[in-house]
Amino acid sequence: MSMNVPSRDMIELESAPCPLGCRRGDLLVLRGHDRLNHLPGVFNVVRCRTCGLMRTDPRPTLEGMRLYYPDQYGPYRGTRIDPDRRKVDQSGVLRRWATRFFEFNTMRLPTIQPGRALEIGCASGAFLDRLSRSGWNAEGVEFSDTAAKYARSLGFSVYSGSVESAPDPQHLFRLVVGWMVLEHLHDPLKVLQKIHRWVEPKGWLVLSVPNAGAMEFTIFRHRWYALHLPNHLYHFTPKSLSRILEAGGWRTVRVFHQRTLMNAIGSVGYWLQDHALFPGLSDTLAALPEDCGHVNYLLYPLASFFSFFGQTGRMTVWARKIDD
Ligand SMILES: [Zn+2]
Repeated sequence: MSMNVPSRDMIELESAPCPLGCRRGDLLVLRGHDRLNHLPGVFNVVRCRTCGLMRTDPRPTLEGMRLYYPDQYGPYRGTRIDPDRRKVDQSGVLRRWATRFFEFNTMRLPTIQPGRALEIGCASGAFLDRLSRSGWNAEGVEFSDTAAKYARSLGFSVYSGSVESAPDPQHLFRLVVGWMVLEHLHDPLKVLQKIHRWVEPKGWLVLSVPNAGAMEFTIFRHRWYALHLPNHLYHFTPKSLSRILEAGGWRTVRVFHQRTLMNAIGSVGYWLQDHALFPGLSDTLAALPEDCGHVNYLLYPLASFFSFFGQTGRMTVWARKIDD
């Protein structure tokens, strides 16, 4: 099906220093492998001795990484919406009430006057659609040609390729969003600096990333669900994220801890799988984060409790452009 995908035995690896230019070297934190798609390779996670930023090193090159993003990669499928039905408002009374009552913080945006918005890693375009329905003039950047094509079929302008290679836009954006994308980038600092040039004065950047500062990372280590090796090249904590944002020209305004326990549940699934315990249950738990249905609603009170203490393993961050 896919073209130009390198074969399994020729994954090209590369090593890159801390993007913040630190020079005191790294500490090995753990070794892990791809648990989501079961693709080959063992990868190290290291922590910079100077700034504390954790990264996957060595890692597949940008081209080699295509192997780890098959067309059936979860987010590409999960963000597909039916082009014919999207014009119809499908949200019933119950659903609207639910969205008002439950704030998962997953894609939480600041209240700002709509203008031009850009989504980095827009996949098949579901969030572009949501933005445009709230009055935003939305466009996207997407690494997967297949997903980008799908988003374009919904009528959005989408650059197909890496954000690193995307040309400067003709106009400035008021808002740039990236849901679970920064940790996938080979050079997040360069991209943060690039987006800084792309936004209006005092423009907004809203990101979500896994939170490796949460206890669940310390508990589950190489079995932590959100480790997602080797696709995740960086493993941020609130502190290391703030630091790289600032280096890229962004001031962190707020950090929201997402009200979901899916990381922890997926990690328990991995633990049980590794210990060959409860095979049916372990597979169900490991697969739950990808398709959790209504479980998130059931766990909302408990997730809110963990979120209060910054312990849910996923965060959404609002940042504003530090004007030159
Ligand atoms: Zn560093």
